[in-house]
Amino acid sequence: MHEAGLARAAVGAIIEASAGTPVRAVVLAAATGVDISSASAAWHAAAAGTCLEATDLTWEHAPDQLRCFACGHEYDGARLDPCTSCGGNGLVVAPADELAVVSWTT
Ligand SMILES: [Zn+2]
Repeated sequence: MHEAGLARAAVGAIIEASAGTPVRAVVLAAATGVDISSASAAWHAAAAGTCLEATDLTWEHAPDQLRCFACGHEYDGARLDPCTSCGGNGLVVAPADELAVVSWTT
């Protein structure tokens, strides 16, 4: 299961960053295509018995970065979203990370 590896990596990164201090809240960003319920379940499995065991988990959607063909404007969105400046078609130039840690609070 792909989400399990991503969630385990996020848990590991925060444990290392917090140096074992109990973490109260974490905000994660998931790209389109990531199954949030699978990723949440994997998070809780990986966090059990660690300083993240009681963490309140919040999910955000991580947008891709696109560049408009017509006007060159760069904007955040999903694949096939029209340009926010002129409404033209854009191309994804920087896909979002599949799962990224936005912030965490001890
Ligand atoms: Zn445009």
